[in-house]
Amino acid sequence: MENVTPIPVYQDQTHPILVTEPYLPSIQKYMKYVEQAFVNQRITNGGPLLQELTDRLKKLLGVKYLLIVNNGTVALQIAYKIKGIKNVISTPFTFPATLTSLMWSNIEINLCDIDKQTWNLCPDNTRNALTDLTIDGLVPVNIFGMPCDLDKFEMIRKEFGIPIIYDSAQALLSKYKGKSIYNYGDIHCISFHATKLFHSVEGGALVFKSKDEFEHATKLINFGIEETGQVFTPGINAKMSELHAAMGLCILDELPRLIENREESVFWYKHYLKDLVELQVASYECYVPPTYMSVKFATEEQLLATVDALKTEEIMARRYFYPANHKFIKSDSLHVLATNNQVTDKILCLPLMHDLSKQQIAKICRVIARAIK
Ligand SMILES: *Cc1c(COP(=O)(O)O)cnc(C)c1O
Repeated sequence: MENVTPIPVYQDQTHPILVTEPYLPSIQKYMKYVEQAFVNQRITNGGPLLQELTDRLKKLLGVKYLLIVNNGTVALQIAYKIKGIKNVISTPFTFPATLTSLMWSNIEINLCDIDKQTWNLCPDNTRNALTDLTIDGLVPVNIFGMPCDLDKFEMIRKEFGIPIIYDSAQALLSKYKGKSIYNYGDIHCISFHATKLFHSVEGGALVFKSKDEFEHATKLINFGIEETGQVFTPGINAKMSELHAAMGLCILDELPRLIENREESVFWYKHYLKDLVELQVASYECYVPPTYMSVKFATEEQLLATVDALKTEEIMARRYFYPANHKFIKSDSLHVLATNNQVTDKILCLPLMHDLSKQQIAKICRVIARAIK
């Protein structure tokens, strides 16, 4: 028998193009950080790598109270627990984790309609619903990194005295009217999942306004154990390991370049598609980090034709968030969702990752132009 080392067949770089691909640093670089964990003899329970990642992220985001956890979903659940909320208003247009995490925490969900330009929870609809509901929290989502109308939500927060927990899982580094979104609301929850702009394989964080809440949460993520060793309240295990922090540190080193590459891709997409589709926009000034390339077609037929045409070219676009999330929510909690129902079956996310070429984007846009003719 011949004893030949098999040579792997690498796929042609251009085929297939997935909707996204996690960025992987060089293994040597990752091993350098992992080696530190071995030298330190620390692999979890708040080690030096996690501390370094926390410090660097605090600086990057310009925040004081940042608590890193093991994923974005658990970040949301900790935020709900801290605020002790029981009955919230949230958005129908989001990744299922926003709503499933609420249900998992036995919180009643009321869904209000979205804004037709930003596709985020509409503050005016929220305000109207608040006058005839007993609500003790709002969970808006900054979808695709687009900030909600944060000033309007801030007015609601003051007027009704209810806390706002932002699901900012997709909104690392987003800005609203020139300011970081973390200046608004009570708590922001971020995801560092492999498919997000910045990742630590799995991971997430909470950003707090209140020092007390930050300290409370710090204990909650470690079973609720206090310095004395006593459990003050039943907590959970939401700690990030040193091996995950190591990946986060690798990616953080390269984040400016990754963002730059993705921003260039978004630029070309918008350039080629501006007359063919609708884009997510806001009536206020904001910065949307290049995490997703979402487009809205005039009709669902156009969307379906595009998905098919792209698939024949081995290009995978994806409908976010389809089928509609609210199918698993009690129907009496749904308010009028007219905009949501009109908009969300026409939204598609196109491939966006760190190393998409201008040629690939041009090809994708040509396929779309042909498909919707
Ligand atoms: C990714 C995401 C989550 C969940 O974060 P994980 O880190 O995957 O648990 C929650 N909400 C939204 C909007 C997300 O995009």
